[in-house]
Formats: sequence, C-alpha cells, structure tokens
Amino acid sequence: MDNLLISACLLGLSCRYDGEYREYDLKNLREKFNLIPICPEIYGGLPTPRVPSEIQGEKVVNRNGEDVTAQYEKGAQEALKLAKLYNAKYALLKAKSPSCGKNEVYDGSFTATLVSGEGVTAKLLRENELVIFTENEINILLEK
Ligand code: SF4
Repeated sequence: MDNLLISACLLGLSCRYDGEYREYDLKNLREKFNLIPICPEIYGGLPTPRVPSEIQGEKVVNRNGEDVTAQYEKGAQEALKLAKLYNAKYALLKAKSPSCGKNEVYDGSFTATLVSGEGVTAKLLRENELVIFTENEINILLEK
C-alpha cells in the first residue's frame, strides 16, 4: 500500500486551533493507504487550543497580531521530513487551513473571507512533488 500523509484533525484528533474535532468516514482510505497523521501547527510548537491564525502576504499572523510565521514554517518542514521518511506521494489535507489548505485560505482579515491561496505546509509539500487532496476530494484520491 502507498503511504498517505493526512491532516490529523481529519482523523478525529483534537489538534484543531479550538481544541475541537470532527471525525470523517475514512474507512475506504484506510483500506487503500497507510495513513501517516501530521499536524504541522503542533510540530511548529504551537499549543492546542491556540489563537487562530491567517496568512497575511508572506507572513502568518494570529488574531492577537503576533507573527507566527516561524512556527508555521517549522511545522511545514517537519511534515516534509515525514513525507520523505515514508516516501509519500499524496497528502490529504484539511481545506482552508493556513497550514493545510489547498485551493483557498482566509484572507488575513479575520472576517471569514476566503481568497485563492494555499497553506504553508500544503505549498511546501506541493513544491516537493506531493499531490495534495482535501477532504472534499477523497473520491478522487481513492481512484489513485
Ligand atoms: S488543519 Fe492541519 S495544522 Fe490545522 S489542526 Fe488540522 S492537521 Fe493541524
């Protein structure tokens, strides 16, 4: 079976910024892939729960105005290490997250406004040849 990096919060782990979790039905994925859970924001040294953050240009800033770019970049590098260790070609990442988002992220105004863009980890993994899917694209991933 191929190895698949997966956002840990999609597996029901309480690593989201608000400490909540939501479990998805991933039974079919488990039958097809070895799942490698990742949470870049935790790997970057941030606590759970934590102040929510959004991307503002080249930086990631939390709602208190603190620059957390370094933590986001460290988390992305750690996720990439795991991808290389496990030779993962695919990643299933949580949509809209400033770390894991693929096609769109919040615009940095903390007004729930989405713009085109990608999270810090999703970008680094994509640049390193991983193919990224969101939880809305599981059916496409199952065809791989
Ligand atoms: S979206 Fe990514 S960084 Fe955020 S809680 Fe889920 S796995 Fe962690």
